[in-house]
Amino acid sequence: MKLYKIMKKPPFFLSASHWMTKEDHPVKSGPNSRQAVIIPLLLIQYGSMKAKAKTMTKLKNHFISSLKEMVVSAKSLKYNPHTGKQTMDEITLKDMENYAHELGISSIGYTKVNPNYIFKDFEILYDNAIMFTMEMKKEVIATNPSLESSKEIFRTYESLGIAVNKIADFLRDRGFDCHPSPAIGGDINTVPTAQEANLGYIGKNGILITPDFGPCVRLAAIFIDADNLPFAVKNEHTWIKEFCKTCNRCVKSCPSGAIYKEPKVLNDETYVYIDLHKCAPPFSEGCSKCISNCVFTGGNYNKIKKYHFLGE
Ligand code: SF4
Ligand code: SF4
Repeated sequence: MKLYKIMKKPPFFLSASHWMTKEDHPVKSGPNSRQAVIIPLLLIQYGSMKAKAKTMTKLKNHFISSLKEMVVSAKSLKYNPHTGKQTMDEITLKDMENYAHELGISSIGYTKVNPNYIFKDFEILYDNAIMFTMEMKKEVIATNPSLESSKEIFRTYESLGIAVNKIADFLRDRGFDCHPSPAIGGDINTVPTAQEANLGYIGKNGILITPDFGPCVRLAAIFIDADNLPFAVKNEHTWIKEFCKTCNRCVKSCPSGAIYKEPKVLNDETYVYIDLHKCAPPFSEGCSKCISNCVFTGGNYNKIKKYHFLGE
């Protein structure tokens, strides 16, 4: 059964739309939105048999826990307090950020969501987004392909799911309505949205390259009614696009030739960097070469930037 082709959306109990009320006025996906990629289904359909038999069974606890957090995220919409509060004071913002860091969040950014980044036929409660990154341990990712590196990826998915649900509870306790969107099973294309929040820039490997951890991160979001957040006005990392043009280290190190040398442009004006069908078999066996071999994973962002501009 072609699960990945048949199931374009998660089942209803994992869908935020199912838990929205009549009073909610969700933001719908735009005319050029792309189809969601449900990673577990992609792996089930295209992952290698060897991985399905061995690795995937050993990841089942992380899978189950991530799934549980997806259910918690979707169902939590019914606990929104509906106070009508739309302004967040600086102390609450700071407290929220500190709490997020205590939960393992690495960096936080703010942006309005482009409707075309909402997955096709999905909807989100508000277009004010708080974007989160969480570091994956690069020394563990460096062991790829391995069970350990796969576990680290799925541990991060799980931890991010737990974190956004706890942060959403924190915000609801302070009178805000919100919609947590976990790293796995989320509602938007988090990579360009995090780029718009100035958290980094998309590299040739299709992953957000962040100043602190390079592409060795995963992403999640919370959509909130507060509309006075410190939204990013520009991206300070655009130089990475030029850097990638001459680097190509990830392209050369990909074992399945899954990274396009020249990305494809989609209707939503975002780029596609990876052939997912080619990537799925090695990825299901723990491949993360495009992360571990990226210059920014091992290097110092400021030094790379300095040498990049010196070389011009
Ligand atoms: S995970 Fe592996 S196979 Fe997939 S794009 Fe990255 S390097 Fe290539
Ligand atoms: S390995 Fe090089 S080309 Fe690939 S994303 Fe990293 S910096 Fe860009």
